Amino acid sequence: MKTLKILILFSVAALFSCHPHQPKLTGGVVFQEESYIFTEAQKATIKEFIVKTEKEVKTLLPKLPDSINVIVEFVDWDLDTVGGVTGRTESNNPPVVAIQLSNNYQDGAIDSLLSGIKSTIYHEYHHLSRGWAIKDNKFSYGIPNAMVNEGLAVAFGEQYTGAVYEANSYTDHAHKWVKEILELPLNANYSDWVMGEHPDGRTFIAYRTGNYLIQKAISLSGKNIFELSELMPDDIINIAGY
Ligand SMILES: [Zn+2]
Repeated sequence: MKTLKILILFSVAALFSCHPHQPKLTGGVVFQEESYIFTEAQKATIKEFIVKTEKEVKTLLPKLPDSINVIVEFVDWDLDTVGGVTGRTESNNPPVVAIQLSNNYQDGAIDSLLSGIKSTIYHEYHHLSRGWAIKDNKFSYGIPNAMVNEGLAVAFGEQYTGAVYEANSYTDHAHKWVKEILELPLNANYSDWVMGEHPDGRTFIAYRTGNYLIQKAISLSGKNIFELSELMPDDIINIAGY
């Protein structure tokens, strides 16, 4: 999520706790109905859309694993800056992506959420193709790795879905922010720097900065998003001129 955000941590705990309503993970789309019961029509629309989107993205990212599990739930968070939808790549093995749809976004009308669902699938599936997951992450700690991996997923999503969200935008300050991130200690606060609000008021710093970094790497190297996605974070940082 692309991309957000503080409350999701609670949701992750809920998804993986031993609960009688825990969805079975056998591949495909399942619905987390602890706090909201989806109608059959809603489920059918969402499922059909996700399956169609997955087919599209698999042609772009052939390394994606088979039998990806997508867990969908409604939440009452404010996700207006990301089209009413956010997500997380929970694990590589089994491949699990969780998607949260905001009840508050245009009254949770499914049609208004489809563009957000599409860009979230593209974003999270890009993470899955690189192994950037919460439980069995293939990368080491540190905000620079998060900046690069989020930046790749944001840039991929923007380029191939056309959906561009304010939460991932950057300004002329982005160059300074990259240097700031590269100097952070390994244990810098993930919420401050990546998926939440920094005490100084900046938000989603690693998403915005990562997006800038990848655009810069593309224009300096002439490599496309797929060629860059084959590289390790340090190499991409070097290519971008840092
Ligand atoms: Zn992400």
